[in-house]
Amino acid sequence: MAFSETGKVWMNGKMVAWKDATIHVASHVIHYGSGVFEGIRAYDSTRGAHVFRLPEHMRRLADSCRVYRMEPPYSISELTDAVLETIRVNGYKSCYIRPLVYRGYLQLGVNPMPCPVDVAITVWEWDTPLGGDDARRSGVDVGVSSWTRIAPNTLPALAKSTANYANSALIKMQATVDGYAEGIALDESGVVSEGSGQNLFFVRDNVLYTPTLTSSILQGITRETILVLASDLGLEVREQPLPREFLYIADEAFFCGTAAEITPIRSIDKIAVGNGRRGPVTAALQDRFFGVINGDLPDEHNWLTPVGAAVATP
Ligand code: PMP
Repeated sequence: MAFSETGKVWMNGKMVAWKDATIHVASHVIHYGSGVFEGIRAYDSTRGAHVFRLPEHMRRLADSCRVYRMEPPYSISELTDAVLETIRVNGYKSCYIRPLVYRGYLQLGVNPMPCPVDVAITVWEWDTPLGGDDARRSGVDVGVSSWTRIAPNTLPALAKSTANYANSALIKMQATVDGYAEGIALDESGVVSEGSGQNLFFVRDNVLYTPTLTSSILQGITRETILVLASDLGLEVREQPLPREFLYIADEAFFCGTAAEITPIRSIDKIAVGNGRRGPVTAALQDRFFGVINGDLPDEHNWLTPVGAAVATP
């Protein structure tokens, strides 16, 4: 859905009206993909509004900056404060949060280093669940993409760079045109990598499988959350390279990510996953995940930062 175009955007330390939150067309990021970003969510709950895994997202933002030799003029603690302040100023209880660090306007040329490092934080209401409203229960149909995921030592997959999403867009467009909710990309060696913006998990014989970090994946924070929840549930987990054919013989499969949360996959390349319905392991993980987010279960792992919280600046 289109933006409501209301509220404020945090830009280099100032709250700016939505329509004034613009940059010059000669900004480096537009031409050369020289930006890194995060996708974070705030949820309303029985215990008030909170942000899910905020420190982990901000740490990944700092990691992405480091890989791309960007030094934002704000500390991570200041930016964490700014995220919370932006949510409060906009009056959201639940929203999607997009901090973006980018090379701005000065000159153009491939080398980004002369250009300033600018920061913006945009928040908006998220109302586009992967596969539609029912997908969390019924699952989505997906296909293996003919596009390969970014290869090692080309674009670094662990850095969440805007440039990586040109590859994601090719995967997503092909899936959309083919009538799938998402695509699954293989890495350059042909093993399973991830979706255009989601990590992957599979279940076979009650064991949970997920690709390793060396399979060109983003180190998803939801992925890490699932690993902890799986351990809480006493599930055996194997992080390993997964051959393509594993997709067709898994008992269960699901996507995970900030936007996708936990979305079951019911078919891959028109082959049913298991019996084509959400499986018991996926459902158990969803119960835990949404239980913590909704406030129905205790936040045992300290994953929630209250939106009202003032963050101490060291
Ligand atoms: N892979 C890619 C390529 C993504 O864009 C995302 C979304 N950030 C994920 C995986 C899932 O990561 P997270 O759980 O941190 O949102």
